[in-house]
Amino acid sequence: MSELAGTLRQVARGEVLESVPLSARTSVRVGGPAQLWVRPRDPQALVAVLGVLCDAGVPWFSLGGGANTIVGDGGIEGCVLQLGRDFVDESIEEAGDHAVLVLGAGAPIARFISLAREQRGVGVAWAAGIPGTIGGMVTMNAGTNTGSAKDHLDAVEVATPDGLRWLPATELKLSYRHCELPAGAVLTRARCRVRRGNEDEQHEDVRIAKADVDRRRASQPLSLPNSGSVFVNPKGDFAGRLIEQAGLKGARRGGAQISEKHANFIVNLGEARASDVVELIAIARRAVLAMSGIELIPEVRLVGTFQPSLSEDLSPYHFLPVLLARST
Ligand SMILES: Cc1cc2nc3c(=O)[nH]c(=O)nc-3n(C[C@H](O)[C@H](O)[C@H](O)COP(=O)(O)OP(=O)(O)OC[C@H]3O[C@@H](n4cnc5c(N)ncnc54)[C@H](O)[C@@H]3O)c2cc1C
Repeated sequence: MSELAGTLRQVARGEVLESVPLSARTSVRVGGPAQLWVRPRDPQALVAVLGVLCDAGVPWFSLGGGANTIVGDGGIEGCVLQLGRDFVDESIEEAGDHAVLVLGAGAPIARFISLAREQRGVGVAWAAGIPGTIGGMVTMNAGTNTGSAKDHLDAVEVATPDGLRWLPATELKLSYRHCELPAGAVLTRARCRVRRGNEDEQHEDVRIAKADVDRRRASQPLSLPNSGSVFVNPKGDFAGRLIEQAGLKGARRGGAQISEKHANFIVNLGEARASDVVELIAIARRAVLAMSGIELIPEVRLVGTFQPSLSEDLSPYHFLPVLLARST
C-alpha cells in the first residue's frame, strides 16, 4: 500500500495517511481504521485520486462529517475519502425572487443556513441543528418533518475517475432520507435554491429554527456520542415510540445504550464498540417486528467490516467501499 500512498500523495495535494482510526471521525465514536485515508485538496485533485485508486483496483468510500455513519470494528478495507479545504467554496446566482446557493460538498450544513440568511432566504429552518456536511445532507436527503434538502436542490456536481459533471437533482430520486447518487461518485458541489422572503418571514424562519434547536436539546441525548436517528420513521409512526413501547429504552450492550432520553438514538457511554451498537440495532428491529409487525429500516449507514459479521436481516443495509471502472 505504501507505494500507492506515495502516488496518491503526489496527486491529492492534500493529506494521505495509512491505517487511520475512524472512530474519531464519526459522531458515535466507534469503528476501526481506514486502510488508507485521503483528503484531496480540491475537485481536480479528487478526480486524479479516483483515477489512481481505480487503476490500482482499490475501492473507496466517501465520508462527510460522519454524523450518520457507523463504521465496523474491522474498519474499512480500501480508501476513505474526506473532502479537503477547497471543497468549501461558495457562490450565489440570482434567480428572480430566489437565490441559488452553490455550496462546496465539504462545507458544514450550518453554512447552508447562514448563507441562505445572508441572501434573505427563508424556508431553511428545518436544517438548524443537523450536524454534517453538504455532501452528507444531499446523500441522506437530510431533513425533518418540515423540510429537507430535496426542497432546495437543483443540481449536484459529482466526481468520478472520468472527471467532474453536473447532474440534475431529478436524477437523484430524492425522497425521505433517500438519494441515488451514481455508485462510487463523490459529491463535490450542490446548487440549492432558496426563496427570498420579506423581513417578517425572515424573522419567523429564525424563530422556528431556534425553537427546533431547543426541542432537540430537550429531547435528544446530545451530550453523548451518537449518530442521530438510528431508524427512519415508518409511515404514520415513530421509530422511537415503537422501540420505547417494546421496552427497550435504556437497554445496554457493552458500552452502547438505547438512549433513555430518545429511544431512536443509540449512545456511546464511553467504551462502546461498533459490535455493541449493531447488536442493539438488531435487538430493536427484532423486538419491534415481533411486537407490531413493522420492520424498522436503518437510517444510519453501516459501513466497512463488522466483527462479528452483520446478521442476515441487517446485511441489506451494509455499505461497502465501491470500485468504479473508468468509462474510457
Ligand atoms: C445529534 C444528531 C442529530 C441529527 N439530526 C438529524 C435530523 O434532524 N435530520 C436528518 O436528516 N439527519 C439528522 N442527523 C443525521 C446526520 O446529521 C445527517 O444524515 C447528515 O446529513 C450527515 O452528514 P455527514 O456529512 O455527517 O454524512 P456522513 O455520515 O459522513 O455520510 C452519510 C452518507 O453520505 C455519504 N456521503 C457523505 N459525503 C459525501 C460526498 N461528498 N459524496 C458522496 N457521498 C457522501 C457517505 O458515504 C454516507 O453514505 C443527525 C445526526 C446527529 C448526530
